[in-house]
Amino acid sequence: MHRRHFIQQLSAGFLLGTSGSQGLAANLGKTLGLPRVIVVGAGFGGLTAAKYLRLLSQHKIEVLLIDPSPTFISSPMSNLIFSNQFELHQLIFSRQAMVNKHGIRYIQDTVSRIDPEKQNILLSSGEKLNYDRLVISPGISYLFDDYAGIRDKKNGEGIVHAMQAGPQTIQLKKSLQAMKDGGVFAITIPVAPYRCPPSPYERACQVGLYFKKYQPKSKVLILDANPDVTSKSLLFKKVWANHFPKMIEYRNNHTLMDVDLQDGRLLFEVQDDITADVLNIIPPMRAGDIAHTSGLTNINRRWCGIDFQTYESTVISKIHVLGDATQGADLMPKSAQIAYGQGKACAQAITELLLNQSLKLQPQYNNLCYSFMTESTAAHIKTDHLYNSNLKTMSVIQGSQELSNSPSVEDFKQGVKWAKDIWKDILT
Ligand SMILES: Cc1cc2nc3c(=O)[nH]c(=O)nc-3n(C[C@H](O)[C@H](O)[C@H](O)COP(=O)(O)OP(=O)(O)OC[C@H]3O[C@@H](n4cnc5c(N)ncnc54)[C@H](O)[C@@H]3O)c2cc1C
Repeated sequence: MHRRHFIQQLSAGFLLGTSGSQGLAANLGKTLGLPRVIVVGAGFGGLTAAKYLRLLSQHKIEVLLIDPSPTFISSPMSNLIFSNQFELHQLIFSRQAMVNKHGIRYIQDTVSRIDPEKQNILLSSGEKLNYDRLVISPGISYLFDDYAGIRDKKNGEGIVHAMQAGPQTIQLKKSLQAMKDGGVFAITIPVAPYRCPPSPYERACQVGLYFKKYQPKSKVLILDANPDVTSKSLLFKKVWANHFPKMIEYRNNHTLMDVDLQDGRLLFEVQDDITADVLNIIPPMRAGDIAHTSGLTNINRRWCGIDFQTYESTVISKIHVLGDATQGADLMPKSAQIAYGQGKACAQAITELLLNQSLKLQPQYNNLCYSFMTESTAAHIKTDHLYNSNLKTMSVIQGSQELSNSPSVEDFKQGVKWAKDIWKDILT
């Protein structure tokens, strides 16, 4: 192959497919003289940032995308697995087409250390890679140590939270199926903020649908550490009362202090212990481990503070943080839709910063969240967020708030469409 043709193909990305972490990646940017951005985490935030960095820079920025998982699994829609309306395989996607199309090098590995002074990262394979800018969208990790009863277990072994779709979703579904009719399925919810505020309440509905069909004497008990349902409160309560009377019970202000997995016993700060047949414990959370161990979790030692214009960390320069790992702004939940909006805004900012354009950004994106409540209805909530240069944060645009009056068939259709659209955009 002639040298010029070879370089053209490199720029267009033809030779940059997925592979292990060896070889070409380390020196590629330098060879071509392109600035390099490394994106850590190929979930909603990372996939979006990687794709739009290539598009917005017109391929003038080299992008390496790193994630240990061979495939992308969508947590949105995963609660519908409990009611048999979805199966896990429908939520598993390859990232190959997207990375090939946009000339992104995908490295299937875990980042074990970040050295901000030397501007490099260390992979678990032992390889070091330099960056000009680093983007991390590592999602969440769980504060299992809050529960004394499982402190000796590694990674909260035995706790089933299913807050990342995958094996735990299936495990929880199997426990549900194995439960005797008349049993109790208990969901505990931590004090907000946590990933996807409405998802535990949506899960209660989906488990309720399963019970209605197969185990009509069983019960879902929601034990919430918050003073009230944290999202779409009136809508959920109405659905529970009308569609799941005596089946779904909600109790607020239940702060879980400890758990006895052997006996299926939950111990609360104030109330009496509760025993249930299936425990779905959603522990308190913080930013993904790599953010925490790298010193980026400067807000309550849990979340990463960011500059909402550039998504750069407020503690370590040249590292940008996205998605659930960040401390959100007003009415900004930890959601896929927000991670997606931040991924685009961050890609725009880095493109301007690296290609020496003047930074004239006023990011704008929205949160749009559908919750599936019955076999055919859902409800949505929406807010538009705009960068406020005076307050240096994202503010909700006045009048942009929407909340469904009641669950509807139309929202169900739109909710499925929302998922298909976002999957399509981040994966092609
Ligand atoms: C049941 C459920 C339902 C939900 N429904 C909705 C919904 O309807 N709408 C909505 O908007 N949101 C929903 N969400 C929330 C949504 O899934 C998250 O907000 C979203 O995934 C956050 O994106 P992220 O990029 O921050 O993290 P993630 O998507 O979790 O991606 C993080 C990635 O980082 C990788 N990673 C972590 N550490 C490292 C490391 N050291 N090195 C390399 N890679 C690493 C992980 O492997 C992972 O792939 C739901 C969540 C749940 C659990």
